[in-house]
Amino acid sequence: MFFLRSKLVPTSALDCAAALSALPKLFSGELELAQQRSLRAHLNTCATCKAEYVSQSHTAGAIGRDGRVGRAEAERVARRRRLAALARAGHEPRPRLWVRTLVVPAFLIVLLARQQPQEVAAQVEAQLGSYRLGERTLAAQHKPQRVQRGDQLHTDESGLLRVFDEHSELRLAGAGSLVVESPAQHRYLLGVGRFEARGAHVFTTRWGVFELGHGELEVELGASGGRVLLRSGAAEFVRASGACLLAPGEPLELGAGL
Ligand SMILES: [Zn+2]
Repeated sequence: MFFLRSKLVPTSALDCAAALSALPKLFSGELELAQQRSLRAHLNTCATCKAEYVSQSHTAGAIGRDGRVGRAEAERVARRRRLAALARAGHEPRPRLWVRTLVVPAFLIVLLARQQPQEVAAQVEAQLGSYRLGERTLAAQHKPQRVQRGDQLHTDESGLLRVFDEHSELRLAGAGSLVVESPAQHRYLLGVGRFEARGAHVFTTRWGVFELGHGELEVELGASGGRVLLRSGAAEFVRASGACLLAPGEPLELGAGL
């Protein structure tokens, strides 16, 4: 009996304080095998520490279960959200995805395409003779040239010039000149010459501004007078003193009085 007890002592060499302080490390897996063995040996011989061990193991187990339950629940929630997102993607977000990936860029491209040609696509070509575009003299056989804001066009007697884009056209027949105010808005400053316009235009002259909404307008301008005829459509004559509509077929004489 005595031998048995004395034999047990070395295996349970840990005292209670050491055993209790080692318990948490047992649950957290921080004890080495030898330490675990001596702790378990002590627990097998000490009811007090065993009770503490059982109590802590319940707590540790509960924490472990809570952790597992929490993780599983979190995963379930995440899965539910993913499924819900997929379900939405199956119905309405698909068009929404299209909007983001295709329609928006397409819209921007259309927007740019609408602006760019308007700004740069107004072109000039000589159908007869030649013309001067800035410093350059270009003949009829040249390809149409793009015109830009501020470009000055001059023709001689034998020239027939066409300034155009897909929506409008301005012709200058014979000697004359004009300045491009805005190729996008079809705004031109007309010098002398015989002009014919089709489509929306705004012409600035020394007598006033002619705004052709649509239709066809004939303008003849000389040094001291001129004549404007609205062949068809709608046009307005705007001066500092006011604006008036042009009547189709009724020429408007420009001169000292106007
Ligand atoms: Zn003990």
